[in-house]
Amino acid sequence: MKYVDLHLHTTASDGVMTPSEIVRYAKSKGLQAIAITDHDTIEGLEEGLAEGEKIGFEVIPGIEISAEHSSGSMHLLGFFMDIHHPFLNERLGYLQKARAERNPRIVEKLNRLGIEVTYEEVVKASGGGQIGRPHVARVLLEKGYVRSFPEAFERFLKKGALAYVEKFRFTAKESIHFIEEAKGVAVLAHPNTLNMNGYSELESFLQQLVKEGLKGIEVYYPEHSALEVAQYKTLAERYGLLMTGGTDYHGIEKNGLDIGVGRGEMKLPYSIVEGLKAVRDKSL
Ligand code: AMP
Ligand code: FE
Ligand code: FE
Ligand code: ZN
Repeated sequence: MKYVDLHLHTTASDGVMTPSEIVRYAKSKGLQAIAITDHDTIEGLEEGLAEGEKIGFEVIPGIEISAEHSSGSMHLLGFFMDIHHPFLNERLGYLQKARAERNPRIVEKLNRLGIEVTYEEVVKASGGGQIGRPHVARVLLEKGYVRSFPEAFERFLKKGALAYVEKFRFTAKESIHFIEEAKGVAVLAHPNTLNMNGYSELESFLQQLVKEGLKGIEVYYPEHSALEVAQYKTLAERYGLLMTGGTDYHGIEKNGLDIGVGRGEMKLPYSIVEGLKAVRDKSL
């Protein structure tokens, strides 16, 4: 039995492997298929898809959109979008612009705190892809301002911390809309980061997302407890949603986490991909 991993990051966002490298790595690990789901960008997909073709390995075009949400954070996964779709590209271009304005302001805030990091250093840490807070965190770590990657977020970068800067986000409805317009399938990523106030609040929130076009929930995720997995499964069954899963592998930051297996507990069958394809084909 071969497995899949439908949540992965590359150097196009904040992962440490290039799209080609992660495709080759997934194949070497004996996986059957992967989805590349970089934050707010599809820039890595052309390369990843081409590498998959070249070495005979199935790569699903994906994305992970950060959407507007009052508490916690909401991420929406999109699978199987047409990466050349003009509306999708226009929306993502808008998000790129928002990041380009935000990142230098984070550096300015750090400088005002007496921390000597430059925007050039952050750009360098990004490896040429999209820039985000994890790249700032790496610079802070390298230069000895923090002792660990999580500490960089705790002290400086997380919402409400000393160098936090707000970023424009589309609403869930808008995000689902542009994923769907580009013929993609929208799935709620790791629902546990929504910080909902209990199960019934999560349920009514989900009902709303389903009305807006949501097709699935990421049930299997390394940071979900057994109870959460059970709850998300129940909700998925109740609302006829797909159940997807992935490791959110970025490379080096999360101790002991690896592609395909998470921390040893993930075994995601290819039938998940077939489910996504069936939903995609139905709405074509
Ligand atoms: P950005 O795209 O700049 O908003 O950064 C978001 C990314 O930073 C997330 O997708 C994670 O990879 C990472 N991140 C966010 N919060 C934390 C945290 N508390 N600890 C470690 N990494 C985090
Ligand atoms: Fe990330
Ligand atoms: Fe996420
Ligand atoms: Zn992710």
